[in-house]
Parts: sequence; structure tokens; C-alpha cells
Amino acid sequence: MEKQVEVEVEELRQQLEKQCLINKELQRQNQDLEQRLQEKEKLLQELHTHYHDLEFPPPSGDEIKPEYRTSRAAVIASEPIQETLEIRKSRVKKTDSETGLIVKAIRKNDFLSRLDDEQIAMMVDLLETSAIGRGSEVIREGTEGDSMYIVAAGELLVSQAGRDLRTLTSGDIFGELAILYNCKRTATVKAKTEVRLWSMERQTYRTIITNKSKKKREQLLGFLKTSRTLKDLNDVQLSKIIDSMEEVKYQNKEVIVREGAEANTFYIILKGEVLVTKSVNGLQKPIRRMGKGEHFGEQALIREVLRTATCTADGPVTCFSIDKEVFEETIPVEHLELFDDSKMLQEAQAPPKSSLNPTLSLKDLVPVLYQEGRYLGDPVTLGVGGFGRVELMTTLNHGKYYAIKRVSKKHIVAKRQEEHMLFEKKILKAVQCDFIVRLHAAFKDTRYIYMVMEFCSGGEIWTKLKEVGRFDEQIAVFCTACVVEAYAYLHKKSIMYRDLKPENLMLDPRGYVKLVDFGFARELVSGGKSYSFVGTPEYMAPEIIKNQGHDFAVDFWSLGILIYELLVGSPPFSSSEPQNIYAKILDGALTYPPYLSEAAKSIISKLCRPRPGQRLGNTKNGIKDVRHHRWFGNMNWHKLRMAQLDAPTVRLIRKGPCYINFDRFPQDQTKADEEFSGWDRDF
Ligand code: ATP
Ligand code: MG
Repeated sequence: MEKQVEVEVEELRQQLEKQCLINKELQRQNQDLEQRLQEKEKLLQELHTHYHDLEFPPPSGDEIKPEYRTSRAAVIASEPIQETLEIRKSRVKKTDSETGLIVKAIRKNDFLSRLDDEQIAMMVDLLETSAIGRGSEVIREGTEGDSMYIVAAGELLVSQAGRDLRTLTSGDIFGELAILYNCKRTATVKAKTEVRLWSMERQTYRTIITNKSKKKREQLLGFLKTSRTLKDLNDVQLSKIIDSMEEVKYQNKEVIVREGAEANTFYIILKGEVLVTKSVNGLQKPIRRMGKGEHFGEQALIREVLRTATCTADGPVTCFSIDKEVFEETIPVEHLELFDDSKMLQEAQAPPKSSLNPTLSLKDLVPVLYQEGRYLGDPVTLGVGGFGRVELMTTLNHGKYYAIKRVSKKHIVAKRQEEHMLFEKKILKAVQCDFIVRLHAAFKDTRYIYMVMEFCSGGEIWTKLKEVGRFDEQIAVFCTACVVEAYAYLHKKSIMYRDLKPENLMLDPRGYVKLVDFGFARELVSGGKSYSFVGTPEYMAPEIIKNQGHDFAVDFWSLGILIYELLVGSPPFSSSEPQNIYAKILDGALTYPPYLSEAAKSIISKLCRPRPGQRLGNTKNGIKDVRHHRWFGNMNWHKLRMAQLDAPTVRLIRKGPCYINFDRFPQDQTKADEEFSGWDRDF
């Protein structure tokens, strides 16, 4: 008996030993595989670089050499701005020489110099002065900034990670990005001598600029309403016209319109005086003088006419103008009459139907674990964004997969993103569109809020783009078409998306693209504007950077940027320094690599027009114009909506474990602090 037990034990021991050996071997093979995978990935990357070097001719003077965007774009979510702000400190009056120094400093700054003259003037007005003692720190690396500075006198030392970089002297600017949003300082600046600085806080600047932009719009609206030609248009239409208009400056004595010439532009005077004259017997006879708020040339917008008088600038003049061609794109001229958009509004305001599943609860869900590799046994993380972490879970009984976004409430409060979070859930709950990720349920506890979403198993477009470098046209067209469908749905519901980028586009198992991440989406009544500073730098429209107020048109701008990035591999305006990105966007010069098709270049340049009112998608036919653009010539939109097209994107999707199409992330070991302020009552 004892003998038999001994034999059995021995057998078991041998089996165990064998198993151990097998395990060891498997582990070794695993490591081996992972190493080979890494090597392959490296090789692939090198090949891509090489391949692109072949595609791109060596840069010649005015041609840019596109570089891949290799890191995920960071999002910017500025704190909400105060509606009213008391400017506590009185404005400091500046001497001429001080103003001279400030203006010169701004002019030589790449980013600030691209702001409007008015904004620059405002800046000069708002700067305050302060004295800094030798050795004092003005800004510290890693802290959040709230002011920008211009050196009036003295010397300061810039250092980064303990290394001295350079010296700043009178007329140098630093920390300027802080006037846009609460960014982290990338260097420390310390006074070397006694220093005098000009400084300005973001809250002051943004509030003033925003209020000023709002006032300016209201004023322009008032001016337009006094036009007899435009009197029948409603505020929404007039607001669209303002979005299309451009500022033009004239010098003293410059002729703005000439009698007898073909008329094709309408003008409103913003600043200065205009002299109207008529030719009588070969002499210019003055008829009248026009000033701020008055307009001329309105007939030009609706019929073929010749100018009946000459208008000349008397002193410097600034006008706001719109060309007939642009006007026709903005408003259907055939019937200058009120169009009834009340129905659209009603539809948008109807209480949304909820798509949530009431039977799903958090305790029914268990994490899916990595089956092999470095993180074997850890929960699968699908993505980590600026705010949350998205994990893969499954139901205990049905084995259905869900992607769960979990965000720390404390973090949300610290970053003042409560409103964005509430919107994200509210909007996702209300939408039911095949091109937008479904939200199945939402929960909260004392530490986190959770959103249970449909799992898009095909992975991010961003990951796919990095794998292949750039997409061929067929794939880019298909991805963009899905986004256009999502936009059509959202805009009809008066929602702007505001965070388009490859990182926020996911593939479902059939290769159809879906929008995820509604952190920046917002409802906007038609004709209204938003003044917040949100988005991803590379994808931000110029009107956001300039605080001019923005609307649905920003989504069309970012659509142009997306098409570019999909086809080229990197966005058109990029740099490692955010202020350089903003400077490039405000500059607006698009350069295309030679392999882009004519149609692609055409649609990108039409979507990325600086004036929001002139952007494809935001002119009178709306999104139809985008669908009808020849770049989409082969797209069957109906079939796309009915999911009857074979998606060319399927060839990007890998087969294997359910998380194979995602990057891998280590487990989150930390636990967020509890948060009880109650902001999430309605979540
Ligand atoms: P951001 O920094 O863009 O604001 P975020 O914290 O708001 O990010 P999301 O963008 O919503 O988070 O999600 C982060 C990542 O998680 C996505 O980029 C994607 O990789 C992954 N992810 C999100 N939703 C899903 C989903 N439904 N299915 C699969 N993966 C998803
Ligand atoms: Mg995201």
C-alpha cells in the first residue's frame, strides 16, 4: 500500500517537473517571440522612414518635409472662463517708449505677432508692471502657468532640468502660451539682476478678448440689420455672413470702389471715414461722407450692377467686406427671405431618448485579462487618454465585451472638467448613430465615474496609421466618409464634436469607423458661439486660437486636418512647441507632398479655409457640399449608411485575441482619492 503511494507521489513529482520544464520553455519562447516582435516593429519603422525618404524629394526652399507624428496628440482643456471679470488692478498707462518696446517685442514673437492688431493693442493696454529682486524665480518648470511676461529691464536666466539655456533681456517674451490655457511651464526663469517685467494674466486676457469678440459680433449684427438688402435675413443667417466676412485696411486716399467698375463686394466701415464722390463733367463732386457702421455696395450682392459712385478712404480706414461669390455661397440669394429653422431647433430641444441598458450593472462585469506576454494575467487596458483609462470587460453570463472608461472624480475636479464630463455622458446617452460609439450604461462611486461602451475591437485609426505610415486614398476616403456621417448626425442635433483626430476614431470588427471620446462635444443653438479653448493643438481652428468665438465650422476645419494626416502620416501644422503649431495655423499656409491627388488637395484646402463662413460644409448647402466633393466621387453614401459597403479598412485589422488590435498598457496600480463635492449628482 505504502509502496503504491510512493510510486504515485514519484509519478506526480515527475509530472510536475515535466510541467515546470514545459512552462519554462513556453516562457522562453514567449520572450523570444516578444523580442522578435520588437525587432520586427523596429525594422518596420525603419522601412517606413526609408520608404518615405524615397517618396519625398529632398526639401527645396519653400517645401516642407512632412515628419510623422510619432506621439499621441495631447488635448487641451482650458478651464471655463468667467462671464464677467472685475479687473481689479487699474490699467497702467504706458509711455510712448514703453509702448514701443512692448509692440516691438510682440512683433518679433512668432505666435503673438499673428494675432489681430486689435488683440495686440488690447495686450499692450492690459500689461501690468512688476519689479523682481535679483535671484527670484518668476516661473518654475513643471508648474502650471497663468501669466505671460515681457522683460522691460534687467536680465533673467532660463534653465531646464538644472541646465542653463539662455539669458533674457529687455524686449524678450516668455511664458506666452499661458495666455491661451493652463499649460505646464517647460523651463524655469530666474532674475539674474534687478528686473522689471510687463505681465498679463490669462483670465484677464481671455475674458477681455472674449467679451470684446462677443461685442464685436453684436455690433456687426446691428450694422448688418440696418442694410435694406439684408433686412429680411434672420440672426442665424446674418451671423453666417459675419463668419464669411473679412477685414480689409485702406490707407488715406486709397480708392475702395470706383464709379463705373463692376460691383462685386459689399462693405461695412469699422473704423475711419469714407468720402463718396460722383463724376460730374469730369470732376469728382463730393456727395457725402460715411463713418463707422455705415455700409456701401450692398446692391452688388444681389444683382449685376456697376458702381454708381467712387468711395475713397479719408484717413486710414478699416472695412469688413464680403464678396458676391462668397455671399452666394453663404445665403441662397434667390429668395432673400426668412427661412424657418424653428423646426430644427424644436427637434434638437426635444427630450433625448436614452439608449442606456437599465439591466446592466457594474458587478456583472469582470475584467478581461492578457493571455500572454509581458502583462500576462493583468487586466486589459485598451487606451489611456488625458483623463481616463479605458479597460476591456466582459459580462459573467453572456461573454459580451464592453469597453469601460473610468475617470478619477478628483482629477476631474482638479482640472475643472466637471462640465465636459457631464456633457460627454449626456451626449453619448442621447445619440444613436452607427458611426458613433454606443454608451450602454454609466455608473459612479466615490472615486470614479464609469462609462460602459460598446467595444470597438478593430482598434484605433491612430495605431493603424502608425503601423502603415500613411493610408492609401481608398482607405482615407472610407474613414473620412464615416466621420462625415457622424458629423451629419451630430450637427443636425446641434452638437459640435471638437476633438477629431485619429486617436478618437475606432474600428468596429467590420472595419467601419466610429467616433469615441465626447469629452469636448457641446450643444450649441444655431447662430450661437462657444468661447472655450478646447481641442488638440494640431487640429484647432484659427478662430479658437484667436478667441473669436466658434461653432460647427471647427469640425470641418479638423476634418481637413484629418484627411491630410491620414494621407500624409502627420498633420499639416505641427511642431514640438505648441506655440509654433498655433503660429502655423494662424499663418494658414498648407503645403502638400507631391503624391497627393488634385482632389485631395482641393478638399483639404476648402475645409481648411481660415474664415469659418467660407469653409466647405459650413456654406449654404452645408454638409452636402462635403459629400458631393469629387474626392468622394466613388462613395455610395446610401450604401455606407446601410452598412452595405465592404470596408477597405478590414485589411488593417489583425486576427487573434480580442485585444490584438490595441497597444498594451501596464496595470493601473494606484487608487484615486475619494471625492464628495457632488458635481456628479446628475451623472
Ligand atoms: P483624451 O486624452 O483623448 O481626452 P480620454 O481620456 O477622454 O482621452 P478616450 O479618448 O475616450 O479617453 O479613450 C482613450 C482611448 O481608449 C482611446 O483612444 C481608445 O484607444 C480607447 N477606447 C476608447 N473607447 C473605446 C471603445 N469603445 N472601444 C475600444 N477602445 C476604446
Ligand atoms: Mg481621446
